[in-house]
Amino acid sequence: LFTAVEMAPRDPILGLTEQYVADTNPKKVNLGVGVYYDDNGKLPLLECVQKAEEKMMAAHAARGYLPIDGIAAYDAAVKSLVFGAESEPVKSGRVATVQALGGTGGLRVGADFLKKLNPQAKVLISDPSWENHRALFTQAGFTVETYPYYDAAKRGINFDGMLTALNTVPAGTVVVLHACCHNPTGYDLTAAQWDQVVVAVKGRKLVAFLDMAYQGFGQGITEDGVAVQKFLASGENFFVSTSFSKSLSLYGERVGALSVLCQDKEEAARVLSQLKIVIRTNYSNPPTHGGQIAATILNTPELRALWEQELAGMRSRIKAMRSALVEKLKSKGVKGDFGFITQQVGMFSYSGLSKDQMVRLRNEFGVYGIESGRICVAALNSKNIDYVAESIAAVVQ
Ligand code: PMP
Repeated sequence: LFTAVEMAPRDPILGLTEQYVADTNPKKVNLGVGVYYDDNGKLPLLECVQKAEEKMMAAHAARGYLPIDGIAAYDAAVKSLVFGAESEPVKSGRVATVQALGGTGGLRVGADFLKKLNPQAKVLISDPSWENHRALFTQAGFTVETYPYYDAAKRGINFDGMLTALNTVPAGTVVVLHACCHNPTGYDLTAAQWDQVVVAVKGRKLVAFLDMAYQGFGQGITEDGVAVQKFLASGENFFVSTSFSKSLSLYGERVGALSVLCQDKEEAARVLSQLKIVIRTNYSNPPTHGGQIAATILNTPELRALWEQELAGMRSRIKAMRSALVEKLKSKGVKGDFGFITQQVGMFSYSGLSKDQMVRLRNEFGVYGIESGRICVAALNSKNIDYVAESIAAVVQ
C-alpha cells in the first residue's frame, strides 16, 4: 500500500531547531523560532492565564463536548476584540464566528468554506509570506500565487507592485493579508496604504482574508485592528482569522477563531451553518481548555486588564530589543544604517543579511536565523543581545 509513498521534505524551520539543539556552542542563540521569549529566554506563562486556570480548576467543571462552533462566550469575546464591542456588526449580529484550532485552524476552516463557495477562485498571498499560507491554501485545493510585498533594495514594501497586482487579478480572487505584524518581514502597511488596498479589493470584487495572528504585538490591540476597521467601513464582506497563540502565550492550546463578516444576521446564520459542516467533518468540535482560558480572561474585567498589561509588556520588550540591537550594531562599528529594524513591528525582522551571512552566523557563531535573513526579535534578551550584535558585526564586515 505504501511502497510508492515518497518522503516529504522536512519543515525547514523545524530542521533548524534540531540543528540548534545539537549545537554544543555554549553561546548559541536560536533566532529562528516563531515564539515570544521573556528576558530570561523562557516561554512565559502569563499571570492572567494562571489566574484564569485557577478559577477554572476551582469550578471543577465536567468536560462535555463543546458545540461545533465552540464556546459561545469565547466566540462573542473574539467578535468584540476583532470588530469592537460596540461596533455595528457585533450589535446587529452579522458576524459568523467559530472557535478554531489556532490561527491555522481558522485559516483552514475559511479556506475549505471558500473552496466550496467559489472553487475556481485563485488565492494570492504576499511575497514573502508565512510559509504555511501557501501550503494550507494549496491543500484546500486552490492555486496559490503571490502579490509583491517586500522590496529588499528599499528595505520596505513594494506598495506600487502590490497594488498593481491586486488591480490585475480576476474578480473573486481571495487575497490573504497580514492584518498586522507581517510575518516574515516586520513591515506593515500604513493606514493610508490600507485605504488604497481596500479600494482595490472592493473595486475588483476580490475577497479579503485578513490573518490576525499578532493582534496587540504591533502598536496595541485597537491600533493593530486598523485594517479590520478599514474593511468594515468599505461595506464589503470579508474573513478574519484570529490567533491567541502569541498574544496569550498559549501556543500548545490551539486557541484561534474564524470570523466572517456578512451582510446581515440572516446571512451570518447561513454562513455559520456551512462553517459548522467544515468543522464537523474534520474534527467535530474544538477542545475545551484553551478556549475557556481565553473566554475567562476576555470576559472578566480584572483579568482582561491584567492581560492588556502583560501584552503591553511583551510589546514594549520587543521594541526595546529592536532599539538595543540597532544601538549595539552601531557601537560595534557596523557600517550601514540598521535603523530600519526599529521601523519594523511584531516578532520578526527581515534583517537584510544575505543567505551566506546567515549561514556564517549559524556555523561560526551558533546564532540561528532563517536563511531569508528573518530573525525573531522576540527571542533576543539582555543576556544574548551583545553576543548576537558581535556575531552580526563579524559577518557583515
Ligand atoms: N498566521 C501567521 C502569519 C503566523 O505567523 C502564524 C503562526 N506562526 C499563524 C498564522 C498560525 O498561528 P497558530 O499557531 O495560532 O495556528
